[in-house]
Amino acid sequence: MTQQIAPQPGILDVTPYVQGEAGTPGANRVVKLSANENPLGPSAAAQEAYRALSGELAVYPDGGHGALRRAIADLHGIDADRIVCGAGSDEILSMLCQAYAGPGLEILHTEHGFAMYAIYGKIAGATPVVVPEDTRRTDVDAILAGVTERTRLVFLANPNNPTGTLIPDAEIERLADSLPPHVLLVMDGAYAEFVREPGYDGYASLVDRRDNVVMTRTFSKAYGLGGLRIGWAYCPAHVADVLSRVRGPFNVTAAALAAAEAAVRDTAWTEHCVIQNEVWREWLARELRRAGIESDPSHANFICARFPDPATAKAADAALRDRGLIVRDVSGYNLPGCLRITVGDEAAVRAVADTLTRFMASR
Ligand SMILES: *Cc1c(COP(=O)(O)O)cnc(C)c1O
Repeated sequence: MTQQIAPQPGILDVTPYVQGEAGTPGANRVVKLSANENPLGPSAAAQEAYRALSGELAVYPDGGHGALRRAIADLHGIDADRIVCGAGSDEILSMLCQAYAGPGLEILHTEHGFAMYAIYGKIAGATPVVVPEDTRRTDVDAILAGVTERTRLVFLANPNNPTGTLIPDAEIERLADSLPPHVLLVMDGAYAEFVREPGYDGYASLVDRRDNVVMTRTFSKAYGLGGLRIGWAYCPAHVADVLSRVRGPFNVTAAALAAAEAAVRDTAWTEHCVIQNEVWREWLARELRRAGIESDPSHANFICARFPDPATAKAADAALRDRGLIVRDVSGYNLPGCLRITVGDEAAVRAVADTLTRFMASR
């Protein structure tokens, strides 16, 4: 036996991410409600920009992402020089871990936080630290209590996935104010577009006012471009400088840049998708409550449905699957008895409500 080369510490501790399921054997029409994709798809202008690129595939993309950064800066009223684009916001999260975490250091996330934070932390050799939430809501004091002199990154999504809950901006501000200077607060804005609270900006203005906050955003959810892999971060100047050194020169494809730029400029389509999401999310939450299934108020494009017990949730999942409706089992997020259901189009939402109402009545 020859000896095998070993990877860096931490890599073999990673449990690979399992993506939202796409299919189910037997059902002839499948509706995927497991990955929070936009059921209405991307803007027509974005699709057109993508198609137009097919004649130019031999040419390297603009490695500086200038046109997209300017479009984003115009829309949000922020500084284009401090925007960094990535192959999905996932790449940004990964680059942050690579740049700031490492062996002997810690990254921190909350109990029901997104699985990739711990995975990227481990890949970088760091130790993930998990802090409790307060009945499925971010608890700022628990985060502060979990910070040590080894903590480098705190990852937080507000609204969070998979709970959908939102805590007040003042609490996020208090968190940013209270963290020691060796810690960077990463506000993961994967669902920021869906928030309708007055004054909410996904924490762009917090980034402008502070040196220790980064905001990440994605084109995979509200913009309907998950297949293209594109996201971005808004950073303090010192972090933008670090990330620009870490990232590959052509980390984002020309097709993704072109489609995302067109999507940003098509604000009418984004608004339409966000309003449709709100209408059908609230309708679905009401119907589920009527059927005996509780959920916290969601500020995102999914509902985290709570069943009376884990066995009932499992049976409900099977009943949905029988109708070709694929949702997300979130027991792995320390939410036993819960299913995360993406707000689909009208037909999908009605099919979910109908299936679950019958299911609960039949028990
Ligand atoms: C979907 C999601 C992301 C990652 O999105 P990308 O497709 O990599 O841009 C990041 N954070 C949360 C909480 C998500 O739900």
